[in-house]
Amino acid sequence: MPPTPATIIQKPYVISEIIHETPDVDIFRFKASDSTKLGFDPGMFVMITYSNPETNEKIARAFSIASAPNSDTLEFFIHMIHGRFTSHLDTAKVGETYYMTGPYGQFRFIPQEDKKVLFIAGGTGLAPMMSMLRYVNDLHSDNDIVLIYSVRFPNEIIRKQELADLESKIKLKTVVTVTRPQEGDGWTGEKGHISTDTVKKYAPDFAERKVYICGPLNFTKAMHDVCTAIGIGEDRIKADVWG
Ligand SMILES: Cc1cc2nc3c(=O)[nH]c(=O)nc-3n(C[C@H](O)[C@H](O)[C@H](O)COP(=O)(O)OP(=O)(O)OC[C@H]3O[C@@H](n4cnc5c(N)ncnc54)[C@H](O)[C@@H]3O)c2cc1C
Repeated sequence: MPPTPATIIQKPYVISEIIHETPDVDIFRFKASDSTKLGFDPGMFVMITYSNPETNEKIARAFSIASAPNSDTLEFFIHMIHGRFTSHLDTAKVGETYYMTGPYGQFRFIPQEDKKVLFIAGGTGLAPMMSMLRYVNDLHSDNDIVLIYSVRFPNEIIRKQELADLESKIKLKTVVTVTRPQEGDGWTGEKGHISTDTVKKYAPDFAERKVYICGPLNFTKAMHDVCTAIGIGEDRIKADVWG
């Protein structure tokens, strides 16, 4: 079992790996400076603080944890938009220290409580869902999961192979939809924005599922509207708002 969540910690973590995952997204893995594990439920986030060694200026941003609670590393999917925080990550190197504070958030998935779920993710909004999927796999839990994942281009799919592997390990059906398919990109899967029809087609039993939505603010709002338009009650929708 993972450590019990709720204890908020603040401590240094060291970058252990950086993966250039897609043209715009880097995966950062961090290890704690000691052997204690951060207790969290999948879906939660931490504040990562960068402290400028010359000016001592501090800047913090929220990032959803993509690793499972049992993992030795904390993993994040970071959209490298070259903003105030992410521009520091552009030049970050393995071995550098950042400070983590957390975990925070009500966007929490308890596999024992929500047996049938629909995950709707856009871009790096896959991060909390990946934590949830990895956790279900670690627990060998029999949750029935449909993941509808929206990206602009086929080369923006994060952890494509791992998602395919998970489909053979847990009760997961993944549907990727590409919103800006290009001539000659070889994409033969679902195309266009996620609509009420997409949900009805891939999760026809949506009324029995708890829905988790995560992505950019406009995406989250649009997906919330899609769900309510087909009669999914507010009490069955959980959305992580990043805006
Ligand atoms: C709970 C929570 C969880 C989050 N989890 C994640 C996560 O897992 N992964 C992740 O990548 N982010 C996540 N975010 C967003 C993250 O906290 C930062 O807002 C983001 O990394 C940008 O920070 P920044 O300092 O680099 O940009 P800032 O300097 O703060 O500027 C960001 C703003 O600039 C605009 N902008 C500028 N350039 C671009 C561009 N090229 N593309 C898009 N917008 C642009 C956007 O409007 C954006 O709001 C999360 C936010 C919250 C609240």
